[in-house]
Amino acid sequence: MEPLWTSGSTSKNKELVERLQQYGIIKSKKVAEVMETIDRGLFVPAGVSAYVDSPMPIGYNVTISAPHMHAACLELLEEHLQPGMKALDVGSGTGYLTACFGMMVGPQGNAVGVEHIPELVDFSIENIKRSAALPLLSEGSLSVHIADGRLGWPEQAPYDAIHVGAAAPDIPQPLIDQLKPGGRLVIPVGTIFQDLQVVDKKMDGSITIQSETPVRYVPLTSKEAQLEDC
Ligand code: SAH
Repeated sequence: MEPLWTSGSTSKNKELVERLQQYGIIKSKKVAEVMETIDRGLFVPAGVSAYVDSPMPIGYNVTISAPHMHAACLELLEEHLQPGMKALDVGSGTGYLTACFGMMVGPQGNAVGVEHIPELVDFSIENIKRSAALPLLSEGSLSVHIADGRLGWPEQAPYDAIHVGAAAPDIPQPLIDQLKPGGRLVIPVGTIFQDLQVVDKKMDGSITIQSETPVRYVPLTSKEAQLEDC
């Protein structure tokens, strides 16, 4: 039987990270290091190109986000992904970005992925196990759960960083509620036209929202709606 996954290529992954640095998408040394350590090739299904800067299908009507979007979100969240901090990745899909979050916050921190397709949660856990993030998973500082991410993951709230990998028509209130004062939420918002929005919670609990760039993500929706024509 064909393996479910690809084997990865350290040199191709490194070239991809170098290209993203040349284009100025990756600026931070830490983000480059983490993206080099977590081989994207270990996170895509067999037969899918991992090192092309484009979203790629992963089944269930969804895609792994393009490398430049993963990089841009890591850059936007870097200050909120310091060692020991807590991060939530909503719509964790392949687990790639959750693994990167885990590497950023380290064993003293917490990285939590939430995904509503059980098969993708299993797939992501297998992917993480074959990656450099395995010890974080074994020691419990990194975890992935089956849940509706529109409700966040209250069990480990509040978070310093929240990322949403699917576009919401509006920012779900539970995600704002689960953000720490001083924390940051990065979320694509919109239906046909979408913007990547950056939500900062100030120390007094008030919120500021900035639109970063137009984007195109799959919808943050119900499992039934997502799988309708599968
Ligand atoms: N960031 C991931 C996946 C992006 S695709 C990666 O790059 O691999 C968006 C993911 O969000 C899909 O896996 C989809 O199943 C998931 N999703 C969509 N709506 C959701 C919801 N309400 N709750 C949890 N996950 C959701």
